[in-house]
Amino acid sequence: MADFEIRDLRVSVEGREILKGVSLDLNRGEVHAVMGPNGSGKSTLSYALMGHPSYQVTAGQVWLKGQDLLQLAPDERARLGVYLAFQYPTVVPGVSMRNFLRTALNWKRGYDGKDRSKAVSPREFQSLLTGPMQQLRMDSTFLSRYVNDGFSGGEKKRAEILQMAALKPEIAILDETDSGLDIDSIRYVSETINGMRGPDLGVLIITHYTRILQFIKPDYVHVLVNGQIVRSGGPEVADELERTGYSEWADEPALAGADLGEVS
Ligand code: ADP
Ligand code: MG
Repeated sequence: MADFEIRDLRVSVEGREILKGVSLDLNRGEVHAVMGPNGSGKSTLSYALMGHPSYQVTAGQVWLKGQDLLQLAPDERARLGVYLAFQYPTVVPGVSMRNFLRTALNWKRGYDGKDRSKAVSPREFQSLLTGPMQQLRMDSTFLSRYVNDGFSGGEKKRAEILQMAALKPEIAILDETDSGLDIDSIRYVSETINGMRGPDLGVLIITHYTRILQFIKPDYVHVLVNGQIVRSGGPEVADELERTGYSEWADEPALAGADLGEVS
C-alpha cells in the first residue's frame, strides 16, 4: 500500500463531472508530476484532495496513514500532513504573513492558547523561516505585509512555498506553482523544494509546462486529460510532452472534450 493512495476519484463541480476516475499512488520520498492542458481537471484534483466544498466527490477514496482523507475536514487533512499550494493564492487583508504563519504553525502543533509549551517560540519561528526566506529571496519586510496583499504573482507563489517550508507537510500538492514565475524565481522555488525533498516528503507537482521539471526532477509523470489519467510513466513522459504537446489526446474525442481550449 502506498503512503498516499488516490482510488478511482470522481469529482463533480456544479453537477458536471470533471474527474472521471483518477487513481494515483504516491509514496513519501517520491516526486510525481501531474501534467495536463488547461481545463483538464488539475486544480479540481487539488481542491478535491484538500476538501474544497464546491468540489463534490461522488466516488472514490483517498488514503493517508490508514485514514480516508475524504472523510476529514480540510483542517484535519492539513493536520494529518497534507499541504496545498494554491494556483491562485487568496489575499487576506489585515492579517500579516507573520501572524498567519505563526498561527498556522501553532495550530498544527495543537496549541489551543492554553499550554504555552506547545506554542512555537519566537526564536524557533525565526530559525524555521530564515533559511527558506533566504532561499526564496524574500526579505524580512515580507512578514509584516498582509497575506498576498499587493504581492506580485511570483511573490504569491513564493509565499506558498514559504508556508510549505514552515509547515513541513508529508504530502505537498503544488498547483501550478511555476505559473507566473520568472526564470530566476523558478530557480529559487525549485531549490527550496529540492532542499525539502527527502524520505519524509511526497510531492505532487501539478503543472501545465515541463519547465519546472527541469529543475525538480520527478520520479513519475502522469498525464491528465479530460478528467482521466491517460498516461503514466517516468520522467521521459515529460520529455515526450515537450515535443508533442497534448495534441495526441486532443485529437481523440473520447479522451479530450471541448474543455481543452478553456483557460482556467
Ligand atoms: P485545470 O486546473 O486543469 O486547468 P480545472 O480543474 O480548473 O482545470 O477545471 C476543470 C473544469 O472544471 C473546467 O471546465 C472548469 O471550467 C471547471 N471548473 C473548475 N472549477 C470550477 C468552479 N468552481 N465552478 C465551475 N466550473 C469549474
Ligand atoms: Mg488549474
